[in-house]
Amino acid sequence: MNSFESLGLSKELLQAVEAEGYTSPTPVQVQSIPPLLAGRDVLGVAQTGTGKTAAFALPVLQVMSRSTPQGRRHIRALILSPTRELAAQIDERFSAYSEHLDIRHKVIFGGVKQNPQVRALQKGLDILVATPGRLLDLINQGHINLGRVEFFVLDEADRMLDMGFIRDIQKVLKLLPKRRQNLLFSATMPNSIADLAGSFLNNSIMIDVSPKDITVERIEQKLMFVRKADKRRLLVKIIKEEKVKRGIVFTRTKHGANRLVKQLDQSGINAAAIHGNKSQGARTKALAGFKDGGVPILVATDIASRGIDVEGITHVFNYDLPNEPESYVHRIGRTARAGRSGVAYGFCDDSESGYLVGIQQLIGYDIPVDAEHDFHFAGAIPKFGQKPGKIKEKKPARKKPQNNRNSQANSKSEPKRHNYHSKQSNTRGDGSSNRSSRGRTQSRGSNNRR
Ligand code: AMP
Repeated sequence: MNSFESLGLSKELLQAVEAEGYTSPTPVQVQSIPPLLAGRDVLGVAQTGTGKTAAFALPVLQVMSRSTPQGRRHIRALILSPTRELAAQIDERFSAYSEHLDIRHKVIFGGVKQNPQVRALQKGLDILVATPGRLLDLINQGHINLGRVEFFVLDEADRMLDMGFIRDIQKVLKLLPKRRQNLLFSATMPNSIADLAGSFLNNSIMIDVSPKDITVERIEQKLMFVRKADKRRLLVKIIKEEKVKRGIVFTRTKHGANRLVKQLDQSGINAAAIHGNKSQGARTKALAGFKDGGVPILVATDIASRGIDVEGITHVFNYDLPNEPESYVHRIGRTARAGRSGVAYGFCDDSESGYLVGIQQLIGYDIPVDAEHDFHFAGAIPKFGQKPGKIKEKKPARKKPQNNRNSQANSKSEPKRHNYHSKQSNTRGDGSSNRSSRGRTQSRGSNNRR
């Protein structure tokens, strides 16, 4: 079995990981630490929850502590993260791992005053963790010089591109010295990421602990077919019956998250929303309440939830099934961390069956169905041979059906699906289902924030 000692880590770092209670390295750590210590570039396919932060932080700290540059401290390692939460968590990990080292690090991100960040930069830093927007702001104001960076880490690169940061990344890359060590971590490896990696990694080692391999066995998954209008009641019932103390509920839109928090409140359930429209203060408060147990339910959108690493999450609810299959794996990975068990519920309504098909294709098996609940709705079950992805809306005037995806949507078994839609917006009566269906067509880019 692999041990941290066998990876070649220094005494100080071994002490730190021991203090964190880590007994053995995770697969991403086993694969990344030795090549990084040897000075290689690494391209890692790994998501949050795999231990990837330690996989880069430990070797970065070790290599940096081998030599102490003369004169004032300067930024020797730059870690770029797409979200503030992830950036803050990476920085917090650096605090833990550098406990016994003379290394100064700091996190900077937008949405908060820049002065304390500027003061820390002026005092001198070894490691800077940053989101792209604030980093470029402070570079433009002359507070940051990246000219002596030895390590560049791009974390959650796929999310960076989703959030529209590609140009910012390119700007940052131009400011870095040519000779440096690079790491890129991404949960998925679409062509856009492969191209980006190719543009700045040199002779890199690729490691892969991708979602398919880590759909954590410990997570019990339950799929429930339900009408959209019944989802809220189903959620409330489960939260109450299972006395959920720490659960995350995923919604597709920010608006949906806000609305659900209000509705849960009306049912006597204390919940807080976390998404890109919330101020940094509100997000920090929501997360702190969730961490200390005061707020048992966090309602989150995908982007805002990235990097949230709270121990002891027992329940994940896919209140809206994600339209990107990879997000399902990210979401359920919030639970069953560090050896604990957890349960992930998926609520699938009739408009989401195509998303379910995509998810099951990605993970390679059918999620066990729980049809015993009060709101079971067979109309949401995917049709035989249904294609993955969004179900096309039925057009009133139709040509003769052809043998393609449209013809499937127009097949005899389909009209029911559309009837349920109209029924549901009538019964609901608050216009909310109309709003949420509009939200569904929103692109992820609209969640952009820095
Ligand atoms: P990350 O993927 O970096 O977000 O890490 C997820 C969680 O795993 C964090 O809470 C880490 O503290 C924890 N962790 C990282 N490495 C290990 C390890 N080798 N053993 C146990 N927990 C770990």
